[in-house]
Amino acid sequence: MGCRSRHAQGYGNRRLSDDQHKPATRIVEAGRRPEWTGSVVNPPVWRGSTHLYADSVDLARGRPNEDGHFYYGRRGSPTQWALADALTELEPGAAGTVLYPSGVAAISGVLLSVLESGDTVLMTDNAYEPSRVMAKSLLAPLGIETCFFDPLDVEGFAALFTDRTRAVLLESPGSLSMEVADVPALAAIAREKGAISILDNTWATALGFPALTRGCDISLMSLTKHVGGHSDLMMGCASAGDALYARLRLKSQALGLVVSPDDAALALRGLRTLGVRLDRETASAFGLAQWLSTRPEVAHVLCPMLPGAPGHDLWQRDFTGGCGLFSFVLKGSDPAGRARFIDALELFGIGYSWGGYESLVIPFDPARTRSATSWPPAGWNQDDRLGIRLSIGLEDPEDLMRDLERGLEAVGSI
Ligand SMILES: *Cc1c(COP(=O)(O)O)cnc(C)c1O
Repeated sequence: MGCRSRHAQGYGNRRLSDDQHKPATRIVEAGRRPEWTGSVVNPPVWRGSTHLYADSVDLARGRPNEDGHFYYGRRGSPTQWALADALTELEPGAAGTVLYPSGVAAISGVLLSVLESGDTVLMTDNAYEPSRVMAKSLLAPLGIETCFFDPLDVEGFAALFTDRTRAVLLESPGSLSMEVADVPALAAIAREKGAISILDNTWATALGFPALTRGCDISLMSLTKHVGGHSDLMMGCASAGDALYARLRLKSQALGLVVSPDDAALALRGLRTLGVRLDRETASAFGLAQWLSTRPEVAHVLCPMLPGAPGHDLWQRDFTGGCGLFSFVLKGSDPAGRARFIDALELFGIGYSWGGYESLVIPFDPARTRSATSWPPAGWNQDDRLGIRLSIGLEDPEDLMRDLERGLEAVGSI
């Protein structure tokens, strides 16, 4: 079927004719509808708030509530529609995708779409910290209760549901400490109990974890990370099946959320190389994680792609890819030694965010944020608590290894 004929169905609808193509092919084709690109390869940057009508008859003919029909900038233009469409095509089972001005806006936008006063949401204890903060700052004042759970305790999770539990927020691997949850099992329990399961899928993307086919109802990402890929934009997205997509879209329109066409064009550019960047980062991260696990300064390597590491079996069972983000824990509890490690690095930038082409490092100490789990986890030497997160970029892995070696040599020096 030609894509032109599906235009009237709206920008969120995926092209079913693409289903037989593999992800690497879909990532090249996705969102490039001729009516949006014209005669060039990429959809141009449509900067515009106002659509000018020819006359009153033309105005009256307008279909302002239909997607794919430019009538006012807040509803997006072909540049944003092309990005949303591309993300939908990459997420098997999705009917549409809503774009948000940041990953955090995607999380709050999704939660506000599915929760009402009097509801309870179950949130994984290793959620991205701003998600945790939302429980207090956004949800509690609206009369929505948040209950944190241990993502590795499936039975304990099932026991937390009440008749007020409306949604669950999952994230796997968890932020910083990288625990891999049994997402299919948790999502199945949520569905059985009548709750909507939401996965923060920023780490794996749909290429590494096709969330909706694993039982999740809504898959969201910070596009700031892998999809942008170049540390120069902020954006988020959420994809879902028909009914939930309609709810997400309605709420985001009510909240007046819109992303700039310039940023959408950048995100589309990043998306085209997502697969090759993830493959390269994964290979580099795997080698570096393996090497770190042999080093005497290192107590634990928290990299699900590494055989023997926590969560590896579930990662191997459920994921179709990895990425360059992993963590490790230094032996002992000397924060000054960890600071020497970080300061000795020359190639790793010190900074938040991740998923860019450049490598980054950041220290972390989850103990102060957790409420349903403990850090360090039970079974570890309780002195080994100093976390370091690495985002591996596209540099030569041998150079990165030498840099990390320089850091480890500095840990014990004074
Ligand atoms: C960074 C991040 C977010 C938030 O994304 P922003 O675009 O920075 O708002 C959400 N979830 C995870 C797992 C993240 O790492």
